[in-house]
Amino acid sequence: MSKKINLLGYSFESLKSFFSELGEPDYRAKQLLSWIHQKGVIDFDNMTDFNKDLRKKLNSVSIIKPPEIYKEYISDEGTKKYLIKLDSGSIIEMVIIPEKNRRTLCVSSQAGCALQCTFCATGAQGFDQDLSSDEIIGQMWLANFNNNKPITNVVFMGMGEPLLNYDAVIESAKIMKHQNSYGLSRKRITISTSGIVPKINKLSRDIDVSLAISLHAPDDKLRDEIVPINKKYPIKQLIKACKDYLSHFESKKNITMEYIMIDGVNDSINHARKLAVLLSNVSCKINLIPFNSFNGSDYRRSKESTMKSFKKYLIEKGFITTLRVTRGDGVDAACGQLVGELSNTIKGKNLIKHRSIQ
Ligand code: SAH
Ligand code: SF4
Repeated sequence: MSKKINLLGYSFESLKSFFSELGEPDYRAKQLLSWIHQKGVIDFDNMTDFNKDLRKKLNSVSIIKPPEIYKEYISDEGTKKYLIKLDSGSIIEMVIIPEKNRRTLCVSSQAGCALQCTFCATGAQGFDQDLSSDEIIGQMWLANFNNNKPITNVVFMGMGEPLLNYDAVIESAKIMKHQNSYGLSRKRITISTSGIVPKINKLSRDIDVSLAISLHAPDDKLRDEIVPINKKYPIKQLIKACKDYLSHFESKKNITMEYIMIDGVNDSINHARKLAVLLSNVSCKINLIPFNSFNGSDYRRSKESTMKSFKKYLIEKGFITTLRVTRGDGVDAACGQLVGELSNTIKGKNLIKHRSIQ
């Protein structure tokens, strides 16, 4: 028997084609989206507006299956971090950050990452696999239906490079936006990328969401070193891609430029000066992120006073600049760190590589 398909990761468009092949009308797609993503129902037999025949048909060819929560950690401020086990046995992370008026979910798009940024715990683990769209939206489903308060914002800032798993990321973002599922507006979904230039161009045509660029350095020499994908897509190409991206939208849009603050590496006033020149013609805001240390990294977080002067300089140059408040230090806020810790604790085995968790 062929493997049943998992409808959890199907967008409205994909569900329409699916139902059309079963000889069913388009409105079934809306009904199913609503059952799964608004009501949290994943058993076809509980979908009361589907007749018996249809339920039988659905059960014979498909399932709705979220991934499994393997472990949960809660920090003092309420940040929740989950390790999630995929069908393959690989482990990924998701984080829920509660704030006054919102609950932000940080999702993973890949298990591990091939890009090896020098400051990143996920990069240090290497690449394991792309997530399917059901494994990505499955994180959103678990976050909404395992916790009573709904998620209001999603950031693709967990493990992996979203634009290197493009189709699954777009499919899941479409489900996040659709009126019959989570209904999040474009402002509430942020895709963060280390700068996969051809995919930035494509993104503007495929979906309207918010874009964040992990810039982290103001010149090629330094960026080649700490964000190695820069050797393939250097800063000039990246900035051009950002401008093209922005010009594609009629409404006013900003790109968020992320800049991690690493002591003695990229945090001098000279770096701030170069950054201000580089971004002078790009409609953007700058988010400074204090480096989070992890086992095996020699970097340290910039000093508080250095981060404040860096921020002050950029504000004086006219940039909207924020310094991220570090949250959930107790549960290791930077994604990739818990999986790293876990694999260190299981002697001789790397979970990502050996997929050995039972
Ligand atoms: N691959 C994508 C999305 C995942 S990483 C990207 O690089 O944009 C998302 C963010 O996590 C990066 O911008 C980086 O700022 C942050 N990050 C990675 N390692 C970190 C660390 N050790 N401390 C603080 N932030 C980190
Ligand atoms: Fe990959 Fe992003 Fe980490 Fe770089 S920062 S290694 S692109 S997950």
